Amino acid sequence: MTLKERDKKHLWHPLTQHKLHPEAIAITKAKGCVLTDEDGKEYLDAIASWYTCMYGHCNEYITNRVSAQMQQLDQVVFSGFTHEPAVKLSEALIQVLPKNQNKLFFNDNGSTSVEIGIKMALQFHFNQGKTCNTLIAFEDGFHGDTFGAMSVSGLSVYNGPFEEFFLNVKRIPTPNGTNHDTIINSLRNIIKNHKVAGFVYEPLVQGAAAMKMHDGEGLELILKFCKENNIVTVADEVMTGFGKTGKHFASDYMEIKPDIMCLSKALTAGLLPMAITSCSQGVYDAFYSDDIGKGLFHGHTYSANPLACTAALAGLELLQSEDMQKNIKRITASHEAFNLRIKQHPKVKSTRQRGVIFALDLNTEMSRYGNLRDKLFQFFMEQGVFLRPLGNTIYIQAPYVISNAQLEKVYQTIEEALSIV
Ligand SMILES: *Cc1c(COP(=O)(O)O)cnc(C)c1O
Repeated sequence: MTLKERDKKHLWHPLTQHKLHPEAIAITKAKGCVLTDEDGKEYLDAIASWYTCMYGHCNEYITNRVSAQMQQLDQVVFSGFTHEPAVKLSEALIQVLPKNQNKLFFNDNGSTSVEIGIKMALQFHFNQGKTCNTLIAFEDGFHGDTFGAMSVSGLSVYNGPFEEFFLNVKRIPTPNGTNHDTIINSLRNIIKNHKVAGFVYEPLVQGAAAMKMHDGEGLELILKFCKENNIVTVADEVMTGFGKTGKHFASDYMEIKPDIMCLSKALTAGLLPMAITSCSQGVYDAFYSDDIGKGLFHGHTYSANPLACTAALAGLELLQSEDMQKNIKRITASHEAFNLRIKQHPKVKSTRQRGVIFALDLNTEMSRYGNLRDKLFQFFMEQGVFLRPLGNTIYIQAPYVISNAQLEKVYQTIEEALSIV
């Protein structure tokens, strides 16, 4: 029996209605930008496996370091203990994070990093004797699938069973250049009627909302409003972090830096699951007390796993290397050229790009997990390109090590797909 067949017996896959989508493709190996399935068919990973493996799959610089670490220290409790991989990673990461970030809290995945960001924001006020029970978020953001993260996510098509149990969240539209006054007015209204603890947002690019991009000037105004009104800002950079937007972090484009940042996905170069919620000294200080109850009583068993920290440190070194920075510039320029070639196509409604993130919307209406979208996905897979359309949006977010020839193959496959929709 093939893996594909054996899979069906006991496995339950994420974001999957198994009755409609009974088949999973069994991948047996990955190298650089190429995935290989059990029949030997190869696929170009044009979305870096949900934008994690940005330095390429099974990158030996990273795997060698993790293998060595594995012989030395595998796992230890991070409450009351510390270790070199965590210390080294903290020193290196603080160097590249926005200047105001000074403390790192380890956790396991993007959702938990947001969950902790929310808890930090709530307790920040609580520790100062204030009860702030409301959060602000963008209308169509995505922050993960645990309860706090789901609550602040606006993309709620399949959240029906849980909505009654959500946190209090007020929503504002993303800034589009013409709605700044409307946004600031609604923020004024919200703080008039509610005690707001924090604002959770994906800076500049909203990943799961189909790589929707908003204007930095408008975001700056919102952040300024938050700062003036003692609202803790939580930047979810789980998707945008580590070079995607052309700078190390999307927050690097902004004057006003977030109080808290959520990092995961490319943090560990796609090798192991780990996340970090970082914060400013000011946030940390609100928890620093003789009162034990003012501490942040949150912890995950695998916090700061030494192997994951090692992968993250090696990944960070690669990100900062001249080669990788050149790659990011090369891909950015390549996407710009592709944009000129494709944006006038009659089947294309609009295109957008920020750094290595490129997206186009088709003229055709498609539901997020509908039949047409599935057809498109199947076409890409048949052509040997792993692209995962989000409704009628096709986006590229390939590993930084993708070659020009591989990029061209991705572009051509998208162009061919336009003729079948
Ligand atoms: C993927 C993602 C998350 C959730 O991360 P998980 O590791 O899947 O829990 C949160 N925020 C953003 C912006 C993401 O892209």
